[in-house]
Amino acid sequence: MYHIPENIVIAVDGPSSSGKSTFAKAIASELGITYIDSGAMYRAVTLFCLRNGLIIDGIIDIPSLIHRLNQIKIEFRFNDTLNRLETYLNGENVEDEIRNVAVSKFVSPVSKVEPVREKMVDLQRSMAKDRSVVMDGRDIGTVVFPEADIKLFLIANEEVRARRRYDELRQKGINISFQDVLNNISDRDYQDSNRSISPLAQAKDAIALDNSNMGVDGQMEWFRKLLDSKYGKKQKNESQD
Ligand code: C5P
Repeated sequence: MYHIPENIVIAVDGPSSSGKSTFAKAIASELGITYIDSGAMYRAVTLFCLRNGLIIDGIIDIPSLIHRLNQIKIEFRFNDTLNRLETYLNGENVEDEIRNVAVSKFVSPVSKVEPVREKMVDLQRSMAKDRSVVMDGRDIGTVVFPEADIKLFLIANEEVRARRRYDELRQKGINISFQDVLNNISDRDYQDSNRSISPLAQAKDAIALDNSNMGVDGQMEWFRKLLDSKYGKKQKNESQD
């Protein structure tokens, strides 16, 4: 048993398809805490744009998006059957739709819009009020929770990440070429890392883990050691008092 702090916040950042959500979900299940997918929020905003004609000829109508931001309500609801939190956009379950190719194509430019980020960051912070969370994203350890108890930064080589994403999409029956997946990943990484507001970056106090050759079991083994070094000893000292 670890003596983890009450309302612990664990930030998991990293580039696209670096395995953040798989790892973060495993951490959440190990510690019995809530997993929050911050990327799903930006994806839901992008879906709203696509459905409401706010992306025309590949260009985002930023003034209209900002004007209509107050019409976008994003929440997560627990699905007991699938045992997961699912994303809702204005009351509709969009968990699957937000993973589609069109959303993936436009989510990075939508995520650059400052008022969008402000709204999402507020939501992310409010979801971590009075509860323990593990949240994954791009700016969780740098901007959303600079005081997070644990900050992880996942990396994996680009081919490995594209292969993971490709397999995931094919399993869902989505017909896409490996090259298109690879292009989308490198394009999003470039945009996410080079934007002026809250770019994808490793926080100074984040611990990096290259999981190119690691499965989730190996990552959890690594994580348990980390927990033990951070919180296990504390427990021993306390029991000696
Ligand atoms: O995590 P996921 O790949 O689903 O995120 C989709 C996109 O949302 C990212 O490529 C990035 O543009 C944006 N994002 C972000 N900040 C976050 C999480 C995601 O800008 N904290």
